Amino acid sequence: MQRTLAILKPDCVRKNLIGKVIKRFEAEGFKIVAMKLVKLNSKTAGEFYAVHKERPFFYDLVSFMTSGPCVPIVLEKENAIEDYRKVIGATDPAEADKGTVRKMYADSKEQNICHGSDAPETAAFEIGYFFSGKELVENME
Ligand code: ATP
Ligand code: MG
Repeated sequence: MQRTLAILKPDCVRKNLIGKVIKRFEAEGFKIVAMKLVKLNSKTAGEFYAVHKERPFFYDLVSFMTSGPCVPIVLEKENAIEDYRKVIGATDPAEADKGTVRKMYADSKEQNICHGSDAPETAAFEIGYFFSGKELVENME
């Protein structure tokens, strides 16, 4: 089993799409291991997206991620990291495949509904960034 960190971004929360997007993740076979609603500030959003700090879009990304509450979720499934990214689609909804979450719901490359870890090392960092070990609930089948 593998775990990945999803975040339902502020645009997802503003558009009242939390339920629809989580429903899709459940339908795709992901189990929720941890979940909460949080509001990032520029320090926490900047730390979370530190890999992008030299990119031209960093300031706008931090502004967007602090513009309202978001929902970090730890999801578990075989091959979770890769499979989750297939379900959400390309970063830019204009380039995302039909039927992916970003194609269906996202407005732009920045406001793209959800985040997903891109590798086991980043998943470990990102899960630990939002959740303590005690908050990760074992899923009983
Ligand atoms: P995420 O890390 O949020 O899951 P991703 O891995 O598909 O998305 P990254 O390249 O890691 O894409 O970029 C992180 C986030 O920064 C994107 O999801 C998007 O919100 C924003 N972003 C990336 N590229 C751009 C850009 N060119 N212009 C504006 N925002 C961007
Ligand atoms: Mg990324």
